Amino acid sequence: MLKTIVFILLISSTLNIKAGTDPHNGSSKCSSSWGFYAHKRINRMAVFTLPPELFTFYKKHIEFLTEHAIDPDKRRYAAKGEAERHYIDIDHYAHNGEDPFDVVPKRWKDAVEKFSEDTLKAYGIVPWHLDVMVKRLTRAFKEKNLDKILQYSADLGHYVGDSHVPLHTTENYNGQMTNQKGIHGFWESRIPELSAENYDYMVGRASYISNPLEKAWNIVKQSHYALDSVFSIEKELTELFDDDKKYSFEHRGRVVMKVYSEDFSMEYQRRLNGMQERRMRESILTAGSFWYTAWVNAGQPDLSDLKEDLSEEMKEEMKKNDEYFSKGKINGRNHGK
Ligand SMILES: [Zn+2]
Repeated sequence: MLKTIVFILLISSTLNIKAGTDPHNGSSKCSSSWGFYAHKRINRMAVFTLPPELFTFYKKHIEFLTEHAIDPDKRRYAAKGEAERHYIDIDHYAHNGEDPFDVVPKRWKDAVEKFSEDTLKAYGIVPWHLDVMVKRLTRAFKEKNLDKILQYSADLGHYVGDSHVPLHTTENYNGQMTNQKGIHGFWESRIPELSAENYDYMVGRASYISNPLEKAWNIVKQSHYALDSVFSIEKELTELFDDDKKYSFEHRGRVVMKVYSEDFSMEYQRRLNGMQERRMRESILTAGSFWYTAWVNAGQPDLSDLKEDLSEEMKEEMKKNDEYFSKGKINGRNHGK
């Protein structure tokens, strides 16, 4: 007789839906944009894009940047106003075949004037927030404030990663409007978990970005234009795979989880022509380039005389963040979960 009770769960890192959980209500805490795995990898690899003057500093703190790549997702549990920084539902603004990128003003002030701050926040602010983060990091470099340099670098890498995910640019962020529920975690967690070890991370050198806001909008645009195939190829494959081939069950500890099967996942990735790998590579290069840009804009300060360790206050703040996270209630919308 089996002593172990086996649960069959559709969990967030796989299908991105917990059994009986509305993806909007924010009660799932396992999930993350890009998956925790990919976010950590993006921040870590971005260090290797940097020129020597910055590389020495960043390499020294590579473990911090890796571990804290997921802080912005954790912070959604503690901080009001955090959730909307991770996405933009750009299609919300377009009607009757309009191009949403023509409709939404690029500058925050103009966009607020046209749509109101509340509306913008309700549908996500990632492109503007990227620009804000570059400015914050620039200030931290000017002040040579180690706590802030590290925190903002880690955060910026996270938001760069999110903005490269097509499903972070649509109201149909989890396929809930097209009977494709679960596609969010499938695209950004399941597939990288299965294959990101084999991706090519030689992405080249970071370069100076003269207009971070424009760059942020270009990233979002590319992500959004990729959506069509993200959805259509999943549909196409679902017709080819019976349910028992599309999904499989995996043991994780005492839990059995329903996940997208490896065959389905690999074929999806192949038909998308390696989109996840391409977007991850772009994320890495852009994260490094934004870090580099902030440092240049700060006047290329010498970082060799910075203290080695974070302040006690900063350590305390991070501990609190983790405590909220382990209690697990998101403040605001849980995008894509
Ligand atoms: Zn995120």
